[in-house]
Amino acid sequence: MASITLNNLTKRWGDFVAVDSFDLQIQDEEFLVLLGPSGCGKTTTMRMIAGLEEITEGNISIDGKVVNHLEPKDRDIAMVFQSYGLYPHMNVYENIRFPLHVRKVDRAEHDERVMRAAQMVELTDFLHRKPSELSGGQRQRVALARAIVREPNVFLMDEPLSNLDAKLRVSTRAQIKHLHHQLKVTTVYVTHDQIEAMTLADRVVVMNQGIVQQIGTPTEIYDMPANDFVASFIGNPAMNLLTGHLKGGVFSGENITVKGLKGVDGPVRLGFRAEDASLGKTGAIKAPVYSAELLGDATMLTVKAGGAMVSVKAHKDVRSAIGDPVTISVPASICHLFDVTTGTRIE
Ligand code: ATP
Repeated sequence: MASITLNNLTKRWGDFVAVDSFDLQIQDEEFLVLLGPSGCGKTTTMRMIAGLEEITEGNISIDGKVVNHLEPKDRDIAMVFQSYGLYPHMNVYENIRFPLHVRKVDRAEHDERVMRAAQMVELTDFLHRKPSELSGGQRQRVALARAIVREPNVFLMDEPLSNLDAKLRVSTRAQIKHLHHQLKVTTVYVTHDQIEAMTLADRVVVMNQGIVQQIGTPTEIYDMPANDFVASFIGNPAMNLLTGHLKGGVFSGENITVKGLKGVDGPVRLGFRAEDASLGKTGAIKAPVYSAELLGDATMLTVKAGGAMVSVKAHKDVRSAIGDPVTISVPASICHLFDVTTGTRIE
């Protein structure tokens, strides 16, 4: 059981700020995901929590106790990395048992704990194999079992799925979610993959350039992005973001007019999601089809409007050719407005 508090957590290398004044309270049993593009400071934040990176400013507390100066081994944290970090000369059993050996856990407990961890990740048939005799997915499960066997207070996972192919990523993701449900260990999980974040997290922290952009449940950040960065990072495809002017509640831009909006007259960015818009006989956007992609469950149409490529998820039976004129319905109720200079959400 552990809660983790980050208080003004900052990391600088010279003048470069990798993590800027990060405040966060991670609840006991929470699955928290740090999400952001490459270089945004996710791994640095996680390494500071683990004790592998020195803190420039601020505090990290675990269960109310400041751990800034505690060695990694004294923090009761287990880490899982994308490079599995298995010992090649040891078999699966020995790899899983290794942390018990290092921690001088009573030998009488080893067998039962290793078997329990192996069972949780469905590895009991592979205990005698060496890592070189396993698939990538199986190796990652050994790494998970090795973290589980320690029965730590906190799991830190840094892109644990990124070396797996697309199909294995999905199944291992489900397994991690199931494990968290079973073990209820406070988990901090780093990824640049917004789908992983949305599917796994109790709460997501979206970061960019060392700065926290938004903290919220997956639904909150999807439905109410705090700024245009979050809007464009969450969702597949990303939210459409168009530029134009608002006057008397009417947004006008290249190929688009949306009525019934609230906001101050002036330049503005308008956002809406591909899945919220629809094709219609009358509508806000009138433009020729730029591209049409069959996705199986839908047809994704792209048009140019508001200075951007705009995607609309249409019915799977829609067949439009490039250049065909389309009308897209964009009711005010699906629209988000963002400040053109700061990117902050207005409405
Ligand atoms: P990725 O997804 O690519 O791993 P990340 O969000 O985890 O990215 P970090 O590894 O935390 O990013 O790095 C944050 C920033 O700090 C990056 O710009 C990186 O170049 C910089 N950085 C990391 N380690 C050092 C270091 N030892 N010295 C100087 N700068 C560093």
